[in-house]
Amino acid sequence: MVRLAVAVLFLASVVAAGVVDDRQDGPPSRVASTATSTTTTTTAPETTTTTAVPVTEAPTTTAAPTTTLPPVTPAPTAVAPVPQPAGDVKVLVTPSGVVVPVTGREASGYRVTTPCGRSAVVADGTPVTDADVVLDAGHGGKEPGAISPTGLSEKGINLAVVDHARAALEQAGVRTVRTRTGDYRVTIATRTDIVKALKPKAFVSVHHNAEPDGPRDGPGSETYYQIASPESKRLAGLIYEETVKALAAYQIPWVADSDAGAKYRTNVNGDDYYGILRNAKGVISALAELAFVSNPPEADLLVRPDVQKVEGEALARAILRFLNTRDPGSGFTEPYPRTSPAGGGGGSSNCADPAL
Ligand SMILES: [Zn+2]
Repeated sequence: MVRLAVAVLFLASVVAAGVVDDRQDGPPSRVASTATSTTTTTTAPETTTTTAVPVTEAPTTTAAPTTTLPPVTPAPTAVAPVPQPAGDVKVLVTPSGVVVPVTGREASGYRVTTPCGRSAVVADGTPVTDADVVLDAGHGGKEPGAISPTGLSEKGINLAVVDHARAALEQAGVRTVRTRTGDYRVTIATRTDIVKALKPKAFVSVHHNAEPDGPRDGPGSETYYQIASPESKRLAGLIYEETVKALAAYQIPWVADSDAGAKYRTNVNGDDYYGILRNAKGVISALAELAFVSNPPEADLLVRPDVQKVEGEALARAILRFLNTRDPGSGFTEPYPRTSPAGGGGGSSNCADPAL
């Protein structure tokens, strides 16, 4: 059953080898709370520079010597709207709660990139100028990610865990932005555009896994770090440490890959395999596969709001330790070589944007 579901997943995403699994789309979220309640809500500087387009004055006809110049057509005074820089505004939380990267400012609003990667102008919203942490709930909409035999998909669990982690971080005074706030698709490019715009101190992508190698005497959590970044490795080690400690409290038949732990995965070029980590280079990032939603006993746990909270708070503790200590983390393993592609998705093909 699991294998079947997984096979379908893979089939749907064969094209997308090299990117992190992701598939989604759906109704707009109405998650109300803005991603960064602490950020200044001063609107971006309005068009301060009035685009002084040089009016092409024809040479004055005063005393034209011999030739009579034709009548000069005055240059039009109405200047077409010219995009302005958006100043400190890096990201906008739209009125429907969707988080989008800002690329410019126009008279009618902010020029943004939509979750599907299109360019659009949004008239209103909450501007975000910076963030300490960005959290990424994997998948969404028509990209469910890994699925349990009973049809429970990771996309909803990922979002719930991210929301709990964010609440805990905000409570600790850590300004936190989410790349996805509801059940809709977001391309990996848009997710990482948000990250690169905000340049947080840490970025974590949250997932739940499928296709374990077999049983394990404890949670089979896996955290991936950026191969070239010792700080990313430390972040992944701390997330591994905190989430395994929290989940180990549940006595169930866990499953895992035999190399479970804090690890890396590289592509043929020796670069990070997962697009979400590769594209976010320059920002300390980790990808967490917290447990196996494809394993029925784990799915039974993961559907519980109290367990989602346990996971989210463990993630927040790990991030706080990353920010506030030099703790090295633990659980580092040497990954065995993998040839089969991870679940695909995260591209823009057939992507339906939510209402902004
Ligand atoms: Zn996933």
